Amino acid sequence: MKIVINNATVVTSSGVFRKNILIKDCVISKISDSPISERGASFVINDKDLLVFPGFLDMHTHLREPGFEYKEDIETGLRSAHYGGFIGVAVMANTNPVNDCSTVTHFMICRAKETGIPVDLYPIGAITKGLNGETLVEMGELRSAGVVAFSDDGKSVTNSEILRRAFEYAETFNMPVICHSEESYLSKDGQINEGEISLLLGLKGIPREAEILGIYRDLTIAKLTGGAIHIAHVSTKEGVELIRKFKKEGLSVTCETCPQYFTLTEKEVLGYNTFAKINPPLRTEEDRLAVIEGLRDGTIDVIASDHAPHHLDEKNCEFQNASFGMIGLETMVPLCLELVRMGILDFKDLAEKLSRRPHRILNLNSPKIKEGEPANLTIIDPHFEWEVNEKTIHSKSINTPFLNKKLQGKAKYVIKGGEAFELF
Ligand SMILES: [Zn+2]
Repeated sequence: MKIVINNATVVTSSGVFRKNILIKDCVISKISDSPISERGASFVINDKDLLVFPGFLDMHTHLREPGFEYKEDIETGLRSAHYGGFIGVAVMANTNPVNDCSTVTHFMICRAKETGIPVDLYPIGAITKGLNGETLVEMGELRSAGVVAFSDDGKSVTNSEILRRAFEYAETFNMPVICHSEESYLSKDGQINEGEISLLLGLKGIPREAEILGIYRDLTIAKLTGGAIHIAHVSTKEGVELIRKFKKEGLSVTCETCPQYFTLTEKEVLGYNTFAKINPPLRTEEDRLAVIEGLRDGTIDVIASDHAPHHLDEKNCEFQNASFGMIGLETMVPLCLELVRMGILDFKDLAEKLSRRPHRILNLNSPKIKEGEPANLTIIDPHFEWEVNEKTIHSKSINTPFLNKKLQGKAKYVIKGGEAFELF
């Protein structure tokens, strides 16, 4: 199969260039300055407005299967990822049953293959059995089954001794531990960020100190063991500062934030908007700006979605009873492009944070736009305006504070496994 991309802006690790690309039999066979003959091609892309990126990977997704298929299943979740422009997703273990043994891991991988959707599913194994925080999983067994990291995401591992052992064992397999960093006694029963707005709404707050203490403890234990730590969904100014400090000291730490934390603030929950109820909660403007600075100076390595689908019944209820989380796979690209439009990141930074870094953290081969490399590409129309609604979203759920809002930019094509897919 011959695929030709002419006149595109290509984002490579060495810069951004106007180039023409020939793909033959799944491989990038030629990158040239002059247009490539379109004769005999089975698929041609020729649009000077498009941006060609190495394929995107979302390293923090909840696909809900097994156990919560009424919110999302592997097929609808992968479809949502595909239309969001991703070639791969790493999926969290808080399913039912929890992904704490090889049977569940095998099931997820097989189910993903059966769907035929061109998105690779990389399971993340639990740290503790049933996410109980007490009994470590058989890391070797899970690793052989195909997990790429370990995390009890959704919960922190409150027992510091268990967390220490987790770092030590994961280190022997050269695998990262992904920490949901939260001092859970402090955040217990909290609904939104603690502050003026929680007071105003009469809702129990989640103090920022819950995240700050969580991050500090997790970094300190990682330092004790020398293990690789990745901090999930950083949302506070002090959290960013702590990670910056430990990085400077040489700790092997990486971290991620999500578009909601650099786009929205706690004001989004005014009017008891349950779609904006997430954990960690949306924070203050000062935090939002600190997260942006962390992205800009490289303290924050990755942008991940924390895609957390919920049924409408779990959101159309009293605020206290509503579930935490929002979907995010399909709004990722436009919200990240906003950082480029604001001059905070450039296209190369986006390629780092959405492709190269997440692949490297999970020890996966990162796609390269280079002759002789496999063709795994995300191709974006940065100008396309669209509205987030039930018709445009492919996830089974629509719980997002961006519902009915207009966004700019969308993945238009994905190239994977030698095939080109047109997304709109
Ligand atoms: Zn999560």
